Parts: sequence; C-alpha cells; structure tokens
Amino acid sequence: MARLPVRDDLVAVEPYGAPQLDVPVRLNVNETPWPPPASFTEHLAKRVAALEMHRYPDRRAWALRLALAGRFGLPPEQVWAANGSNEVLAQLFQAYGGPGRRMLTFRPTYSMYPEIARTTATGHVEGDLDEDFRLTAAIATEAVTRFDPDLVVLASPNNPTGLSVPPAVVRAVHQAGRALVVVDEAYMEFADAASTASATSLIGDCERVVVVRTFSKAWRMAGVRLGYLLGPDWVVDDLRKVRLPYHLDVMTQEAGLVAVDLAAEVTAHIPTIVAERDRMRRALTDLGVHVFASDANFLLLRTEVDDLFDRLLARGVLVRDFSRHPRLAGCLRVTVGTPEENDAFLTATKESLDV
Ligand code: PMP
Repeated sequence: MARLPVRDDLVAVEPYGAPQLDVPVRLNVNETPWPPPASFTEHLAKRVAALEMHRYPDRRAWALRLALAGRFGLPPEQVWAANGSNEVLAQLFQAYGGPGRRMLTFRPTYSMYPEIARTTATGHVEGDLDEDFRLTAAIATEAVTRFDPDLVVLASPNNPTGLSVPPAVVRAVHQAGRALVVVDEAYMEFADAASTASATSLIGDCERVVVVRTFSKAWRMAGVRLGYLLGPDWVVDDLRKVRLPYHLDVMTQEAGLVAVDLAAEVTAHIPTIVAERDRMRRALTDLGVHVFASDANFLLLRTEVDDLFDRLLARGVLVRDFSRHPRLAGCLRVTVGTPEENDAFLTATKESLDV
C-alpha cells in the first residue's frame, strides 16, 4: 500500500527537540532541578481525587485565568492559558500568522519560532542581535521598518543567549510598525527585578503587546505543560477562535490553581538558582571560558574546543550544543542545576579543557 506523502514543506524536516539521554547530569533543557515541594503534590493529589473526570473541563479555564489575573492585577479577560507556552505561541500564529503574513525574529533566538511559523505557513524574516547579543531600539526599529512584519517575537530573557529586552525597546518595536509584538518571558522570573523590567508594564499602554509566560521553568512544572498569555482582551477573543475545544485538561487546570495558591513555596528555589548561576559564571570565567551575561537559569559559553559537548557527555554531563547554529560557533548552553550538578559540570569542563 502506498503511503500518503507528507506535506511538501515537511519532507526534509527533522522533528524538533533536544536529545533525551539517560545520563547522571542533565543540564540541557532549562528545567528546574528540584521537583515542586511536597505541599504542592499533596494538595494537588487531594484536589485531583475530587475532580469530575467524566466531565469535560471548563472550556474557558476561568478559575485558573482568574487566579493568574489576580497575580498581575489584570481582569481574567486579559489572560489566556494553554498546554505550555509553546501552545500559546502556536495559537498566536494560527490567529495572526498564516499564508501571506510574516514574523520577524532577531538571531540567535529560540528555534521553535521558525518551526511554528513553518507549520502555520507564516513567512519568517530575521534581523540580528548586536555583538553582545543585545537588542537595541535602533536595530529593532530598522528591521521593523524594512520588513513590515505582522508578528514580532522577542524572547526576554532570550534563549539561548540570556539577556532580556528592555521595555523601552519593546515599545520602540511597537511604535515602529503595525505588528503584534509577542514578548516571550519564559525565563523572566530568574531576572533581577531591580534592574530588569517585564514587558507586562506595557500591556494596555501599547495596544499590540502581549506577554507569554510558562510554568515549565521557574515554577518547576515542565511535566505539567502549562503556559499563559497576558495581553489585550481582543487577542484573547481571537485565540478562542483557534483553540481546540477543551484544550486544557482538568488536571492541568487544577495543577495551575494549586501552584498559584502555593506560589511562594513553589518558587522558593529561585534565589538559589540565581546565586548558582552567578557562581558558575565566575568559575567558568576563571577557567578562561567566555561566558555571556544571563538573566535566565542558563548560561551560554564559548570555547575554542570543537568537541567540548562530546567531552562533557563522556563525563556524564549533558548540555545543549549550539556550535553549529548561525552566530553561535563554539557555543554551548548549560542549565543551572543543583549545586552538586553544577560542580560536576565545572569539574567535567575543567578536565575537558585540560585534555
Ligand atoms: N519559550 C522559550 C524561550 C523557551 O526556551 C521555551 C522552552 N524551551 C518555551 C518558550 C516553551 O516552553 P513550554 O512550552 O514548556 O512552556
């Protein structure tokens, strides 16, 4: 029996995803190394036991949106939730991308943006971050003027490079064109609140700015698949046109509610991760490794050692290899783990550089 060929534009595509290898130290996908606290799992178990699983979930996820809205001082009509921030992003592309429309990103950035653009038949145009991987208002304005995009996606802090986009630059992107400006703040909770502002402060003021966040990183719930959007109510109304009915299951909604209830405990580890990030940066610099500044729970490093990724893996440490990505020759990204995992990574790096 002859197969049905896949869509022409998917023939040469490799499924996206980092290797899931069973090694002692896994620092490659920016998870939090500790599970949520026992208080969270105990509450959740009780609440799951009381759920009506024979019924469809609340299609609007209203209780969860209300709880999230409360954290940001927004009405629930300005909050949307889906299965991970990747699904929120995919829904934004379904609603505002598509044939004849284009998205602008700045290299290097998160590799899923072009993947989602392709599956939604959205065009992709690119500008470049500056030499230190910063986005300046001048770079952003020039690219928006040149490309006239429908969507601009900015990761802040950026993955894999680590720095945030100042709200003034987001505002400049918004002013320069007519695009929906999507600020992906997957890692914002790790940034220093005193020096780094979230684009949430622009919501309302800039009518086409939306912020996307996730429970996968600082909320240590990557296995739950929950992300959300904050933005104008008309965006939320448009997303409701493309979502599948009952897209967010009862258990995910409940997990989000319990996490928001216990927010302080669930996110209590963040200062430890930040302190470890800064310790790792100093230790790597002492080893002569170039490390980029980071507001996130990972560090991007550059060395001359071609096969550092393999040398680390041989020592049981898995990081993310970016060395073959545009503008990232010689670069690896390491997630901040437990102090023990970070020590193992530092020791493995030292040994690998000494070889
Ligand atoms: N945005 C960025 C910048 C990311 O790095 C990731 C995860 N790697 C995501 C979004 C997606 O995360 P999730 O779907 O787990 O919320």
